[in-house]
Amino acid sequence: MFELNRSQKEIKKAARDFAKGEFDKTFTLELEEKRKFPDKIWKKAADLGFIGIQFDEKYSGGDLGIFEAALIAEEFCRIDSTMGMALTLCSSGSEAVYRFADNDLKEKFIAKICEGDMRCAIAFSEAEHGVDLSSINTSVVVEKDELLINGKKNHVTDIGAKGFYIVLCKTELTNDSPEKNLAMVLVEKDNKNIFIKDSGEKFSLNMMKSAEVSFQNVKVPISNIVGKEGKGFHQLKKIFNEMKIITAAQTLGIAQGALDRSVKYIKQREQFNRKIANFQIIKHKIADMATKVELAKLITYKAASLFDTNKSDTALISMAKMTATRAAVEIADEAIQIFGGYGYMKESEVERFFRDAKMAELKFGNRAAQQDIIGKAVIGKIK
Ligand SMILES: Cc1cc2nc3c(=O)[nH]c(=O)nc-3n(C[C@H](O)[C@H](O)[C@H](O)COP(=O)(O)OP(=O)(O)OC[C@H]3O[C@@H](n4cnc5c(N)ncnc54)[C@H](O)[C@@H]3O)c2cc1C
Repeated sequence: MFELNRSQKEIKKAARDFAKGEFDKTFTLELEEKRKFPDKIWKKAADLGFIGIQFDEKYSGGDLGIFEAALIAEEFCRIDSTMGMALTLCSSGSEAVYRFADNDLKEKFIAKICEGDMRCAIAFSEAEHGVDLSSINTSVVVEKDELLINGKKNHVTDIGAKGFYIVLCKTELTNDSPEKNLAMVLVEKDNKNIFIKDSGEKFSLNMMKSAEVSFQNVKVPISNIVGKEGKGFHQLKKIFNEMKIITAAQTLGIAQGALDRSVKYIKQREQFNRKIANFQIIKHKIADMATKVELAKLITYKAASLFDTNKSDTALISMAKMTATRAAVEIADEAIQIFGGYGYMKESEVERFFRDAKMAELKFGNRAAQQDIIGKAVIGKIK
């Protein structure tokens, strides 16, 4: 059903060749330990067109779709889950600018993302408001001819780099429902009224530092509002759809990468004078893992392809996100089991694939949040 066309096959191969040539296991571990982003590899990836391939050519994008962006995320994560996640997450939020901001903002910022000159992070969650973003407290008010932002965000990931935050704020539209009172605002990271408290080392994704970020009387031009005031919640859901497709693709790659490593290992490792690939229980594990990869691929490709043909289906996207992330967690878990004691060692890589898969399952709405969306869509109106 999802036969890739020639251009898509070439993009997939180019992404895989790039990752094989540039990603180095020892270097990944070193960056993770030092909590440093792979700046040079990211710049090279941008120069080759792997960053922002879904954006318009006039903003230095590749003029292609989410499908192609998903293929890149899949191949990068298949070769190295940690490097792949970092390179395909560091422009999160730029979708909001591309889809909803005015031309001036797009011209100023999207090209810089595609060219590897800026990175973007989302500042949505607050200490008291995680899943329930409709209740956030960070405010934006119009003061004279500027926007004034006050509030504190937490878990903001990829701080420190040159670029901008997309900050989810509450507006002054007090008569409307909480959902209508939301707006996204673009704030450049170097604003002197932004204060950062590093959250320290995480279970994974340490190449991108996370922090509590305080916005204290931060002033930005009114034109930095991304999209229409009062439409923030609606727009948020739309960009979450894009982020969820990319997350599904990242974890499809992680799942395939854990399977690849397992297949290689069982053909080398001997116990009881036989390669462990000969044991029926190992064959059955591999069969289950391969089946889960195939299912994750079908639903992820379908969600991405519908998105690009403007037939985007929110429930299907949630199903893809839920299916692919769970498949990756389970497959990486099984890979650790197949590798035995060695699977628990950093050298094996599969323990890192497991940690990255778990992170992906939590981000942009965990399993429960996706189930809410799917359940609501399937059940429909209740009289
Ligand atoms: C590594 C990492 C990076 C992150 N990066 C960012 C970032 O860059 N920007 C950003 O804004 N945020 C970021 N986050 C925050 C992330 O989006 C939140 O952790 C997530 O939204 C969940 O919020 P919470 O942790 O406050 O959990 P809570 O909202 O407190 O939820 C706790 C539990 O309750 C469940 N629950 C909540 N409501 C319901 C309900 N109605 N029905 C059933 N169950 C429910 C949840 O499913 C969850 O299991 C990051 C988080 C992590 C771990």
